[in-house]
Amino acid sequence: MGKLVIFNWKTNPDSIREAIQLAKETMRAVRGSGASVVIAPPFIFLERLATTLRGSRVRLGAQDVFWGEGGAHTGEVSWHQLQNLRVTHVILGHSERRALGETDSIINKKVKAALGAGLRVVLCVGEQKQQGEKSARNFVQTQLRKNLRGVRELEQAAGRLIVAYEPVWAISTTKGAKQCSPQYAAEMIRYIERLLVSSYPGRATIVYGGSINGRDIKEFAVQRDIDGFLVGGASLRKNDIRAIIKIVGNRKSIRKL
Ligand code: PEP
Repeated sequence: MGKLVIFNWKTNPDSIREAIQLAKETMRAVRGSGASVVIAPPFIFLERLATTLRGSRVRLGAQDVFWGEGGAHTGEVSWHQLQNLRVTHVILGHSERRALGETDSIINKKVKAALGAGLRVVLCVGEQKQQGEKSARNFVQTQLRKNLRGVRELEQAAGRLIVAYEPVWAISTTKGAKQCSPQYAAEMIRYIERLLVSSYPGRATIVYGGSINGRDIKEFAVQRDIDGFLVGGASLRKNDIRAIIKIVGNRKSIRKL
């Protein structure tokens, strides 16, 4: 199996018609490829896209989930509802949600609820500013410690955690975004793997995210420590979708996905 790609559509596209086109484009690119691909559209498109993706290897992800059971929680979406839509993955702790006020403690509740419910969690961590590797390591270590508190004891969690190392300064929509080198990304991923030994049962998948596109993917994909990619902007562009899936499908990860 090739590496993993998670396409995060964020608040795009504007209509269900465009969402279906994008999903079909992704399905075409995946045919005959070894890549494992997840698309994470806005909640409102999940139900329709579950039908579009039926029979395809492309899996469905959500961009958030509520930590509690259903009930009186205006505006939230529960894990029961996601499961009923055949959603398999959920992105948590994305820097854009943290910027909206989501705290480490809320993220921790969501991580435990989602893993406990059998979903695969894509937990995003990463430093805000380019400040050198030592402070980046400290920042990420604190996020992981807080976000994964109590997960080690959660038996159902094993094998279902995906950590996305996303230095916020390298995300394409960050003002003045800079390119993160593939070597730096791989170095941070090796560090995260070492940290997880004490906070997570079993082996996690660790991916990189930050301005990945169809041009630069090659040099990242050859890094054996990088299990895959969380992709934002490029997940909406046909040529980038094809190029990313093609390259990632031919590259194996050293960890079993
Ligand atoms: C992201 O926001 O998680 C991300 C990786 O976006 P982009 O690929 O556009 O940098």
